Order: sequence, then C-alpha cells, then structure tokens
Amino acid sequence: MSGQEALRPRRRPTVSVDVGGVLVGSAHPIVVQSMTNTDTADADATAIQVARLAHAGSQFVRVTVNTEEAAGAVPEMVRKVRGLGVDVPIIGDFHYNGHKLLAEYPETATALAKYRINPGNVGAKRHDEHFATIVQIAIDNGVPVRIGVNWGSLDQAILTELMDANARSAEPRDARDVMIEAMLESAMRSAELAEATGLGHDRIILSAKVSGVRDLVDVYRLLAARSDYPLHLGLTEAGLGDKGIVASTAGLAILLNEGIGDTIRVSLTPEPGAPREREVEVAQQVLQSMGLRSFLPQVSACPGCGRTSSTFFQEMAQQIQTYLKHRMPEWRETHPGAEDLRVAVMGCVVNGPGESKHADIGISLPGTFEEPVAPVFIDGRLDRTLRGEGLVAEFIEILEDYVAQRYPTPA
Ligand code: SF4
Repeated sequence: MSGQEALRPRRRPTVSVDVGGVLVGSAHPIVVQSMTNTDTADADATAIQVARLAHAGSQFVRVTVNTEEAAGAVPEMVRKVRGLGVDVPIIGDFHYNGHKLLAEYPETATALAKYRINPGNVGAKRHDEHFATIVQIAIDNGVPVRIGVNWGSLDQAILTELMDANARSAEPRDARDVMIEAMLESAMRSAELAEATGLGHDRIILSAKVSGVRDLVDVYRLLAARSDYPLHLGLTEAGLGDKGIVASTAGLAILLNEGIGDTIRVSLTPEPGAPREREVEVAQQVLQSMGLRSFLPQVSACPGCGRTSSTFFQEMAQQIQTYLKHRMPEWRETHPGAEDLRVAVMGCVVNGPGESKHADIGISLPGTFEEPVAPVFIDGRLDRTLRGEGLVAEFIEILEDYVAQRYPTPA
C-alpha cells in the first residue's frame, strides 16, 4: 500500500450496486457523474453532449426524461452514443410522469442503466402507486434506481406530518432540523417501499441534496448513519463560477474526508458558452486533490510574489499543465499510472528547489536578480540546469522521457 493510499479516509461500508457494468459502493472507486443540459428530444445534440461528458471522464451521464418526445428519443440517442464508441451508462431522470413514460416507452426503460426517482415528485395523490410502478419497471429491466430527494421538491406529505408532530411536541425542534428529518424520512421510507415492491437491497442508491454546505454535511452524516446504501453526493443548485466550485468543493470535501459518498456530481451552472465538461473536471479535481483518485498529473506552482516580477513562470506552469492534460488521453493507454505524476514549476530560489524536490519532477525558475539558471530536480535530486529561450521545450522533453521510463508501456 502506498503512503497516499494509507492516508485515504476509510469509506463508510456500503453494498455494491451495479449500474450498467460500473460498480458503485465503498469497495469501488468513487464514481464521477454529470448531467446533460440539451433537450433530450434532440437525440443528436444529446448524444454528442453525452459523448463529450464521457470523454471528459464522466462515468455516468444522466439525461432528463421529461416529455413523451424525450422518452421517445432516448433509444435513438443511446444508439447514437454507442455508435460514437462510447459505452457510458446513461441514466434517466424522472419527475411527475416517470411512471407513465417508462410504462409507455418500454424501449426507453430498457435503454437506460438506472432511473433516478425524486420521491417528492411522483404525485401527491397516488404517490406510492406511481413510485411502485417505476420500481416494478426497474425490477423487470434489471436496473437499479437512485432515490434522489431534493429539498426544493421535498415530499410535502412527509414534511407536513413531521411539522405537525413537532408542533405537538413538548420540546419542538428547530424548523431546519424538521426539514432535514423530512428529507431523511423521504429517502428511507422510499427505499423501504422499493424493497417491499421487490427491488433488491443492492439495487438502490440514495441522495438528499440541498444547496447550503452546512445543511448538506448534516443531511449526509445522518443519512450515512441510517443505512448501507451507497450515497450519491452533490450540492444542488451550487451556482455559477467560483461560488459553485468553492461551495461544492467545501461540502464534498468534508463528507468525502469522513468516508461518506460513493458517487459525486458538481452541479455547476455553466457560464454562457462554457463547456458542460467543466463540472466533470471539477469533480475529478476534488477527488484527486484529496488523494482519493487520480485522473491527471498535478502541477504545483507557487503563487508568485515580488521576488519574481516576470510572468514567465506563470506562463510556463500553464503551458505545462495544458501539455499534461493534452497528453493524458494517450498516456492513459501507453503509460498507465502517469495520472499520478507530480510536477512542480516554481518562481524563485526561496521555495523552488524544496518544492521541486518533493515533486516527481520539478523546475525552479530564477527570480528577479537571481542567476538566470533553472535547476531541474528528478525524484528529489538535482538532475541538470536549464537556461535560455528553449527552456519550456527542454523541460517538456525531460517530462516525456521521465514518463516513458517511470510508467512503461504495458507489454
Ligand atoms: S517560490 Fe519565490 S517567487 Fe514563488 S511565491 Fe515563493 S518566494 Fe515568491
């Protein structure tokens, strides 16, 4: 066991759930997933986005199935995705009319690898009947379900029941606590109903998403203590840009560090024109930064300060990062393990040599007024010193040699 593996948090023990051939649970790597934002009725656009998300590393891709047109387009969309050589499990997200759509479009029910059911959105009047209909179709098709509670669409019957009981209590609890309890009850009662309908215990994944970091942590700690179902983590409606990334990371990191969470999604609101794949990259980076999984070589770079007034080292760090990202798809085949590579690009002599020694391969650039030389460290030892204009190209050549030697091509 490597040092990093020994430091990984112990996962909360769960059963394993097979989702289209990808196993989810504490015995398996944490799965990164994402969701399309195309109109599912547009089979071409959705197939292309599913393929892009999968290519970026999303191991499940969820699509909304909200209308008859969307349900009708799913089989064709899935065929197109497979035609692109992409075998990612595709999950259907159902609200309000899932029982009808799955019953009326059996080919769609078969084409999907999992159904996400929101128990707050299966209908107030015939709630249990609609829920059981979806579960029975899952049983017939041999697919698992995710019972995905969301506080924005919480089961009102359960919330009212718990609020009334709380009002009658001698020591009423805070409304927030009752809301959290209602989310847990909704998830657990739904799981019970699913199993009573005949769905296997190892066919259920739970989630209970909220949009506040502290609420998320509290909900999932409690949910984790109540069952051994795998949990899907994510902050819902995380938001745009930095806010979405930081809030998601904060919530996910706390829970993952406690061993809670078996699949994750980072629900970013894409900025206009920004690629949907960003949410996959952020989710991967969360897992890699925590030492839970490796996807891409990591570049350590100092923030820079008054000791290095040139932007050269920032540009070099960015060039190296871009280069590694560009090379990784090929290295994944030819040099497996290269995703664990640690590279340092540092701005001056203060921390440059030290940080570079801690990396697998590092370069310490000269700060202002320092001698214009850049020592390169490999596996903690000074290997050579670069200088002059071709420095970036030379360092990339050294990187390529290092990867070829350290991560040999499988026979
Ligand atoms: S390594 Fe040098 S340039 Fe970079 S932050 Fe530290 S002191 Fe500043």
